[in-house]
Amino acid sequence: MSELLSSKGRRLDGRKLDELRPIKMEVGVIDNATGSSYIEFGRNKIIAAVYGPKDVHPKHMTKTESAIIKCRYHMTPFSTGTRKNPAPSRRETEISKIIREALEPAIVLTDYPRTAIHVYIEVLQSDGGSRCAGVTAASLALADAGINMRDLTAGCAAGKINGKVALDLDEVEDMEGDADLPMAILPNLEKVTLLQLDGNFSRKEFIAAFKLAKEGCMKVYEMQRNALKDKYFGNKEA
Ligand code: ADP
Repeated sequence: MSELLSSKGRRLDGRKLDELRPIKMEVGVIDNATGSSYIEFGRNKIIAAVYGPKDVHPKHMTKTESAIIKCRYHMTPFSTGTRKNPAPSRRETEISKIIREALEPAIVLTDYPRTAIHVYIEVLQSDGGSRCAGVTAASLALADAGINMRDLTAGCAAGKINGKVALDLDEVEDMEGDADLPMAILPNLEKVTLLQLDGNFSRKEFIAAFKLAKEGCMKVYEMQRNALKDKYFGNKEA
């Protein structure tokens, strides 16, 4: 087992067990999209962009009473240490689906019948936790696009390294650690819309990791609110 914690309980990057990586968010970074955002979550660098609501293609996918969400999570070939095949992998197909499912309950889909809302998540650089950072960025891009929403979706993972529950694992901790629990919540509606588990937890550890991930999501949510305020009510040029 790799040593991921120092004798003083610090992680390889100096963080405490309950500490997030440095996070930056910006809303409205792509002029040509209806809405967009950029997020840095530690070394993850991700752009999200939204088009729509637009006509549905193919037509048979149209829902008469609501919009459909089409979501694509994609890692660029230069996002990882070795060149990633640009073709969508099974992992990216799975993450596209779970991000869509994490976003949908926040969107008032019935306000946009017979339309499609397209959500694109491009991972420019990845370092573990990219699905949580991706869903967070996508929710900001939807808000920036002016899509009617009940809440934002905020994502953050917790996990277990060297037998200890820890917040927001990076890639090394994810690979060498014992467990990873990615999560996304609707903070005001108090709903969990994404929850996955890779690895093993005891019942007690699971409860502790769930609580920690939820606290992380709440911190991420505050940053999302601030990023939206910066664009729409702040000093930055719109
Ligand atoms: P997440 O990014 O949501 O934690 P995973 O746990 O599947 O998703 O992946 C952890 C990390 O492993 C990713 O953030 C990325 O840095 C790395 N990774 C994933 N897929 C590949 C790949 N095909 N090639 C190289 N690195 C990858």
